[in-house]
Order: sequence, then structure tokens, then C-alpha cells
Amino acid sequence: MKGLMMKTQLMISSILRHAEKNYPNQEIVSVTADNPRHRYTYTDFARRSRQLANALTNLGAKFGDRIGTLAWNDYRHLELYYGVSGSGMVCHMINPKLFPEQINYIINHAQDKFIFVDVLVMPLIEALHPHLTSLEGIIVLTGKDTMPITELPNVYCYEELLAEQDDDYDWPEFDENTACGMCYTSGTTGNPKGVVYSHRSTLLHAYAGALPDATNASNRDVCMPIVPMFHVNAWGIPYASIMVGAKLVMPGPKMADGETLQNLIETEKVSYSSGVPTIWMALLDYLDSSGKKIDSLETASTGGAACPRGIIERLKFDYNTRVLQGWGMTEMSPLGTLFSLKPGMEDLPEEKITDLQAKQGRTVFGVELKIADDNNNELPWDGVAFGALKVKGPWIATGYYGMSQEPGADDCPVDADGWLNTGDVATIDPDGFMQITDRTKDVIKTGGEWVSSIEIENAAASHEQIAEAAAIGRYHPKWTERPLLIVVLSPGATLSKEDIIEYLQARLHKWSVPDDVIFTEELPHTATGKLNKLALRQTYKDYEFAS
Ligand code: ADP
Repeated sequence: MKGLMMKTQLMISSILRHAEKNYPNQEIVSVTADNPRHRYTYTDFARRSRQLANALTNLGAKFGDRIGTLAWNDYRHLELYYGVSGSGMVCHMINPKLFPEQINYIINHAQDKFIFVDVLVMPLIEALHPHLTSLEGIIVLTGKDTMPITELPNVYCYEELLAEQDDDYDWPEFDENTACGMCYTSGTTGNPKGVVYSHRSTLLHAYAGALPDATNASNRDVCMPIVPMFHVNAWGIPYASIMVGAKLVMPGPKMADGETLQNLIETEKVSYSSGVPTIWMALLDYLDSSGKKIDSLETASTGGAACPRGIIERLKFDYNTRVLQGWGMTEMSPLGTLFSLKPGMEDLPEEKITDLQAKQGRTVFGVELKIADDNNNELPWDGVAFGALKVKGPWIATGYYGMSQEPGADDCPVDADGWLNTGDVATIDPDGFMQITDRTKDVIKTGGEWVSSIEIENAAASHEQIAEAAAIGRYHPKWTERPLLIVVLSPGATLSKEDIIEYLQARLHKWSVPDDVIFTEELPHTATGKLNKLALRQTYKDYEFAS
């Protein structure tokens, strides 16, 4: 027997139509290169998104064409998220912080027909332009007065282009499995790989992300996504927050600037924000040095890399902000797990709650998790057994753009059993809290033991005189590999190598204590804010432990 329900397709444009009708006066506030505080309403946003859809059609873009964006978090980028996808084209967000040759590769691989770029990114496009094979036009996200002077052909001014367009446009309805967006994983090895999101996956992901035990998003919220819109849909916040009718605050190119973030939080009364741990570190350092407050900020979500316990504690105890740690990946839209307590856990001592916040969280409905050993046997959720973390669900990739979608194929991330292999190694405790112990390729194999580089880093970073730490495995004649710790000290720190080893001996298994500590001024990070272990392994490739 068939269900007798409408086959309404899950469309990104439906979020926009709902938002415009139900929250016409809700605000979107942005920092842009040409305006320190731009503000407009959902009504303006919806109208301009329709004008954008008309502009694309008039430029000659067609259903299914890839439209690149190289832009920060602001209202114009938001219009692209909706206007491009809503009209059946594919919004291809590109991370401007990647290496130029990677950006070049990505644009050509996706065959972007048009690209929308922030003024600040124009010099990069000028340099790459001769090598971009599919581009038919470049639209600069600014007004006439701030248009950069350029010799490039087919360059348009976004505001001029929009001003010429009719604001009437009927959002088409089509198969919800149609591609709406694309994002390439930065890939620490080999070329970046394209993940293609669909309207359906994006909407289901937005619903799940807004649930009370996920981010608890509502129209009472003021959401500030600091996590960039040029990577993994800014964790879905541009969809979820508009779906619920929240006010949006977008920090534009100032997303790593503690002073701007504090000012936006205080003046716009931001209640929810999200960013990678380094962003929270930058904000906390600014708060501590300026004495300023973030009283409105109830919740800060963090992900992308393990969140040092110190950040969770400082936000909680010094600023009364609750940290929600989440885990996910580009291939997962990205939401996989998020911190949430189970009934009865609210009464746990604060220390124990912090322990749970420092884990990667519990799965949200829509994502199935399992850990498996080398023979793909499922391991128990006992908080001890660790293995390859695998996932399944409607917003998880079946494969990469232009590569095999056949489970088990060499270039497909989905194993023959139909589960996507995340490349992470994890434990899951009996309450369902998942804890990443490492990336498969970063695990340190010493003697017969597997040592988690993240566990060593977290232990080291819990010392107040250590600003950041990275652990990598280096060759050892007896043990195959031993951990080497590379440390950035906090300003004014007086720690010696021996002090650090002694500190770690009290906190780690004997075999996990690094054999040596190297001090450095700065650690390398990837374009998405993770420690760049590959670069570190390269830098220390000739390192030898003293025998
Ligand atoms: P990239 O494009 O650099 O691969 P992703 O955002 O897709 O970036 O990275 C996903 C990976 O980031 C995960 O597989 C995991 O290793 C790591 N990661 C994400 N969130 C967390 C977290 N909360 N704690 C530890 N690692 C995390």
C-alpha cells in the first residue's frame, strides 16, 4: 500500500519562501570589505536572491551549471547560496585560503562557468585567470564605487548586475536529488576531491542541525556563523538559521579578529555562534586582554578539530558560554555528532560535564555510526575499544565528483559494506559519546601499541604555559615509531623540556609519553584550521631520537 501524501520536493528555495513570508522583518547583519556594518531584512534578502537568479539566467547560466564562489560570510554570499541553488544551478564554494594551484585545479575540475569573488580575492583570480579553462565570466561582489580596476575580460559588478534585474522570479521545483552545492575537501594528500550536496540532503541536514538536542536553533536566536561559508556550507547554519527564522550576523573577512567578533556579539546580541577552536582561542585572548564581555552568547559550537579542554573551561567558567563540540567532515555535509546530555546527566559534577564536552559528541538522528576493527568486525560501545569510524545516512556522500560511486572501489570513500570510512579512529562510550583518538594516518604505532597523537596533544595543551602542541610519530630503531612533541609556549612561559615530560608522565600511559620535545614559534595549519601533520612530518623527516 502506498502512502497518500504529497510528493513535495525538498527544495532550498522553499526555505527562502517560508522565511520571506513568515519573518519578513528579521535582520541579516554583515561586515563586508565595503561596509563595516551592513544590515537588511529577509524581505531584501529574498528579493535580491530572485534578482540574482534572473541575472544568472541573463548571463547565460543554465540548470546544472557550476557557479563558483570565493567569498567570506556576508549577505551577498548568502544570496548566492540561495539564488544559485534555488534556480537549479550548483553553488560551488571555494576556500580562498587554499594554495593557488589547488584553487586552479578545483575550478577547472568542477568546470565552473561563472565565479563570484570578493574584492579581496581579485588579485588571486587575476593571477589564475590564464589557466582557468571553463570560466565565462567573473562577478565581483561589490558596488560600482569599489570595483577594482582590472584588465580581465567579462568582469561584472555584482551590485550593478543586480540593479538591472527584475525581482520577479518563480523558484522552479525539480527533483530534490538534484545537486545544489559543491565543496572540495582540502585533502592533505593528492588532489582535492569534490563532494556534491543535493537539495534533499541539505534540507534534511538543516532540520537535524536545528533540533533541540543539536544546536537548538529558533527564531529567538541571533546566529553568528564564524565557520566560513567557503567550506562545508558553514556547517549548514545558513540553511538552518533561516529555516527557523533567526537573525543572522556575518563577520565577513573579520572572522579571525577577536575585537570584531566581541563587538558584533555585544552590539547585535548574538546568542549562538560557531567556529573552529582557533577562532575561540582568538576571541578568548581578546576578551582576557580587553576585559570585555560576551554576555549574550549562550552557546558556542566548535568542531573541525579537537577542542582543547582549556577553551571549554574558559568559555564556561569565565564567560558563561556553553560549548557544544561537534564532529563531522566535508563528506558529511558536515554534521555527524554533537554534544548533548542525556536525561539525568544535568546533575553530574561540572568537571564530568566538561569531560563529556571534550569528547566529539553523540550522533544526531540521520547519522548512523559504527567503529570497526581491521577485519571490519563491529566493535562495542564501551569507551575502550577503538577502531575505524564509519558512517551512513542521507546527507553522507556516496563518492566524489568525477570518481567512482561504487562502494568498495579504490577511489570511493564508501566501503564495500556500504558505510563511508571517515579515516578517523574513535571510541564510543556506552552513552553514545564518540571520541576521536586520531586520524588513521596520524596514529603513532610504537611497539605493539597504538598511541593517539590527539591524546598527547590534549594533555600537553592542558598546561597553562603551553599555547599549542602537536605530536607526530618518528622512526625509532627499537619501537618502529615513538612520539615526538612539538610545542608552542604561551608568552612569558618558562617551561623546560624536562618539565613538560614530567607533566605528561602524570597524565599519560608510559608508552604515550613523548621521547622528545621540540620548541617552535608557530605550528603549521591547513586552510581549514587543522594542525598540518603532513607538513610537520615533512619538516621533521630527518629527525632522529637520541639513543
Ligand atoms: P578537510 O576538507 O580538511 O578534510 P573536513 O572539515 O572535511 O576538512 O575535516 C574532517 C575531519 O576533521 C574529520 O574527519 C576529523 O578528523 C576532523 N574533525 C572534525 N571535527 C573534529 C572534532 N570535533 N574533533 C577532532 N577532529 C575533528
